[in-house]
Amino acid sequence: MSVTVAAAHSIPLCVPHMTGTEFKYLRECIDTNFVSSVGPFVARFERQVADYVDSRYAVATVNGTAALHLGLLVVGVEPDDEVIVSTLTFIAPVNAIRYVGAYPVFIDADRHTWQLDPDRLADFLRHECDFSRGVLRNRRTGRRIRALLPVNIVGHSVDWDSVGSIAREYGLPIVEDATESLGARYNGTPTGRFGSVACFSFNGNKLITTGGGGMLVTDDSALGERARYLSTTAKDDDVEFIHGAVGYNYRLTNIQAAVGCAQMEHVDAFVSRKREIAARYAEALSIPGITPMREPPGVQSAFWMYTVLVEEREFGMDSRRLLAELGQRSIQTRPLWQPAHMSPAHRDVSAGARCPVAEWLNRTALSLPCSVGLTAQDQEAVTSAILQLRRG
Ligand SMILES: *Cc1c(COP(=O)(O)O)cnc(C)c1O
Repeated sequence: MSVTVAAAHSIPLCVPHMTGTEFKYLRECIDTNFVSSVGPFVARFERQVADYVDSRYAVATVNGTAALHLGLLVVGVEPDDEVIVSTLTFIAPVNAIRYVGAYPVFIDADRHTWQLDPDRLADFLRHECDFSRGVLRNRRTGRRIRALLPVNIVGHSVDWDSVGSIAREYGLPIVEDATESLGARYNGTPTGRFGSVACFSFNGNKLITTGGGGMLVTDDSALGERARYLSTTAKDDDVEFIHGAVGYNYRLTNIQAAVGCAQMEHVDAFVSRKREIAARYAEALSIPGITPMREPPGVQSAFWMYTVLVEEREFGMDSRRLLAELGQRSIQTRPLWQPAHMSPAHRDVSAGARCPVAEWLNRTALSLPCSVGLTAQDQEAVTSAILQLRRG
């Protein structure tokens, strides 16, 4: 589907960038017959990502959603538990919570950073939960709250000092969704280091891609081993095929990992390109009606998905009209996701969550073309189209 979309726009939103080494590594897979989930590229790719984010263990998975599903399982989330999650996110982490049979509790976004709002989180825990003898319960539902799943969105980072200390106060393990923030740092530390486990995605539109793929990283060997075990059908004996638990077939293939290895060799260059693109947009689009994407304090952003806010009154049209106008000029843009508490898929379990900031961001935000390979000329075409459309 993304092929059709890309073909329909001469300047697509965010497409993969091949480095030239992918084909060589793929050829090695074919030549050696290591095409499935056993093969040297899988371990090499795991090492590359783990080293890049300073983690001890890594388990490569078929996609980021699978990594999140495993992450929730290994930190101990069980059916009928609740998991606190950012409402302004791509839907994957919320779906993963439901796969476990658990329920999401949605927390609003911060108006300035767009990430999970630590004050709303603290308010919820303080005023709507009971915490006694190490067990945290949602007073309204009576259910146990078992984990926290903050999502680093659009390439920025969650405010980990605040969220981390709240999590410690209530004894909540963190599953960090770092799928959009590969390459970002919070107070100098790579994102992906702030949870008991953290998850990455290598889907086609992410900073680096394996076509489709994901990874769980952790410093905790027990959690890492458990995730690896569950990802490979929980096999105890591979001669007799004895399985010790209901496992999953979630391992990444050597073919996909080969592409990932080639991509990871250029990850620093990719982040630099994203930051360059962001700096150019920020300069060209500092105009009334447009709020450029700003780095939150203490954050070195990967600027994975360059996003601006469009204020209708100042700009002369709203974000959706701008999307349509740019689309007619063959420039692909996209709003931020429908907040998960409003999603028809999850409305039945959102219990009328009030998240006005996420709803406002959903109405006003627009992501602009920001592929690693975006040329200066194409970026110039995007900014001049926006300048022309303003009050035009
Ligand atoms: C991309 C993404 C994922 C994982 O997506 P997959 O397509 O399953 O790899 C998870 N969370 C967020 C926030 C994402 O953007």
